[in-house]
Amino acid sequence: MQPIKLAYYRQRDTAKKRGVSFDMSYEDWLDVWVSSGHLNKRGRGKGKYCMMRLNDKGAYTKNNVTIGLFEDNTRESKSRNSTRNYPKTTLPPLERLYEKVVKITETGCHIWVGNAVCGYGQTSYLGKRIGTHRLSYLLVKGEIPDGKIVCHSCDVPSCLNPEHLFLGTPKTNAEDKVSKGRQIKNTWTKGENHPSAKLTIDDVLRIRKSTSSYAELCVQFGVNKSSISKIKNHLVWKNI
Ligand SMILES: [Zn+2]
Repeated sequence: MQPIKLAYYRQRDTAKKRGVSFDMSYEDWLDVWVSSGHLNKRGRGKGKYCMMRLNDKGAYTKNNVTIGLFEDNTRESKSRNSTRNYPKTTLPPLERLYEKVVKITETGCHIWVGNAVCGYGQTSYLGKRIGTHRLSYLLVKGEIPDGKIVCHSCDVPSCLNPEHLFLGTPKTNAEDKVSKGRQIKNTWTKGENHPSAKLTIDDVLRIRKSTSSYAELCVQFGVNKSSISKIKNHLVWKNI
């Protein structure tokens, strides 16, 4: 899954946990970001931008959110909630692991949204670094014998739903990859070879360089405004 889509799910989940209703589709959410022009600076920390509700009230809806500097948002909410306390609890390991997980209803995957290397989540457990899918297996299903690796039936490296994890060897994992076509996947579905692609690589480069308005580009290339904005913001055709 694209990191940007995960960010959407993560925000939706956090809002839910805080008891705030979240009535925005992924498309609405992305639209707010793209129109703000700050999508590339989305994040936490100085100089980064985040999505906030107007006056920090009401639900997350397209008309009740704005994109602002992260530091402004935290400063404001700190002064507003100065009496609120968030006690630091020592959660059991599995619950602590699941604090950084977003559950995807459609696929049943439990996607880790914390630190990751090559798509595989990383965390530490008992003072050692460990892959999050391995830790999930260890905590729920039990020991991982020497020489065995934890594989994904869903084929999503960042997933740690124990139901999607099984033990294998590097050899069975490689065979599994080939049988699922994972090795050849993405080679023909990208860019202009995609069955529904209207644009060529050359078109994409011209759109990115062009200073014409979005409306003019839509007419010139026969695609809609949202496609133009996604191309300009490198949300699609990322390999170019
Ligand atoms: Zn999964």
